[in-house]
Amino acid sequence: MACEEYCFETRLLHNKHKMDAATGAVSVPIQHASTFHQFDIDQFGKFDYARSLNPTREALEDVISELEGGVKGFAFSSGMAAISTAFLLLSAGDHVVITEDVYGGTYRMITQVLTRFGIEHTFIDMTDLDQVKHAIKPNTKAFYVETPSNPLLKVTDIQAVSQLAKEVNALTFVDNTILTPALQKPLELGADVVLHSATKFLSGHSDVVAGLAVVKDEGLAGRLAFLQNSFGAVLGVQDAWLVLRGLKTLHVRLDQSQKSAFTIAQFLQSQPLVEKVYYPGFENHPQYDILQSQANGAGAVLSFELADEAAVRSFVSNVKIPVFAVSLGAVESILSYPAKMSHAAMPQAEREKRGIKNSLLRLSVGLENSDDLMKDFSQALEQINQKRLVFERGE
Ligand SMILES: *Cc1c(COP(=O)(O)O)cnc(C)c1O
Repeated sequence: MACEEYCFETRLLHNKHKMDAATGAVSVPIQHASTFHQFDIDQFGKFDYARSLNPTREALEDVISELEGGVKGFAFSSGMAAISTAFLLLSAGDHVVITEDVYGGTYRMITQVLTRFGIEHTFIDMTDLDQVKHAIKPNTKAFYVETPSNPLLKVTDIQAVSQLAKEVNALTFVDNTILTPALQKPLELGADVVLHSATKFLSGHSDVVAGLAVVKDEGLAGRLAFLQNSFGAVLGVQDAWLVLRGLKTLHVRLDQSQKSAFTIAQFLQSQPLVEKVYYPGFENHPQYDILQSQANGAGAVLSFELADEAAVRSFVSNVKIPVFAVSLGAVESILSYPAKMSHAAMPQAEREKRGIKNSLLRLSVGLENSDDLMKDFSQALEQINQKRLVFERGE
C-alpha cells in the first residue's frame, strides 16, 4: 500500500524526535528537572514546571500524536490515568454509552467512581448499531468504544458510532490498546479521543506502566491539556523514555506476533478440547468485514474456551512457555484468566451476561517460535485429556 511521505515503520524512527537538536543524540535525552529557571519575570519559557510539561514527556506526546494522526498527544502515569482524565471532560448530569465488554478497570471507573459524580452510563453491545441508537438519551455526551474488545475480541464499527455521536453532539472515545496505530487509526475514522494503555504493545516489554491519549481537535486538546495538568497523573520521564524506546520496534513486534497469533488461533480451533476460539482475523468472525474495512490486521490477542474451569486449571498449571499473568502486548506470550484477572472487577453475573465465562482464557502472543508454543499447548491439552480419562475410569 502506498504511504503518504513515509510509511508507518519509517515514521516510528524518523520523526520529530529522531535526534536531539542540541547534541545530535539519537536517543531522546531524559530530563529529570522538576522545575525550570525563568530568565524573564514577565515572559516565562515553554517549560516552567515538569507536571505541566517537560521535554522528555513532550517527545513521547509528539510521537504518539503523529502516529495516530492527531494534533496533540498526552502521556499519563497509566492507561487508567489516561482513561480517567479523559472522562473528566464530562460533567455531572452527563451520560455515557459504553461497550459492555470493556476493560475491567474502565468498568470499575465508570460504575464505581463516575456514578458518585453524577455521570450516568448505559452498557450495550456496540457491535449492534440499533442498541447504540436506542441507548442515546438527551444528556448523552460520550460514546466509549473498545475495539477489538477485551477479552471477546468483538469489533465495533468506529465510523458508524462516531457518526451517531456527531449527530447528537457527543464525543467518541476509542481505546486503541489492542491494535495500536500500527493497525488502526480511530481519529481518521471519526473518533475524537484515542486512548491507550501504553503498558501493552506500544512499549511492549512488560517493563513500564503508562497511558496515552491523542486528540485531533485544537479545542479539545486545550481542554485535555488543562485536565492533564489539573489532575496531575502525568508520566515520569524514565517511563516516557521506555515507551519511546519500545515504540521504535512496534511494527516488527506486532507484525511477527500477529502472524503467530493467526497460526495459533487456527491450531487451537482444530483442537477437540478447545470449545471456541475468538479471533477477529477469522473469516467467520461475525464482524470480520468491519475489521477488514477499518484496520490493517487482527492483532495478536485471541481468546479461547475450554470445557470448564477444571480444564482451565489443568491447562494453566501444565503450560510452560507463556507467563500466566495480567497484561498483554509483550515480547513474551502472556496467558491470562479474564475471570480472575482483567475482569475481576466485574461481578460474576455481569461477566456471564457478557459471555466472559470461567472457562475462558486469553492469550497475547509474543515473539516465541510459534511451533514451540503450539507444542507446549498440545502437551498441556493432552494432560486435560489424561485427567478426564482417569476420572471417567473412576481411578
Ligand atoms: C491494560 C488496559 C487498560 C489499562 O491500562 P493500565 O496501563 O493497566 O492502567 C485499558 N484498556 C485496555 C484495553 C487494557 O488492556
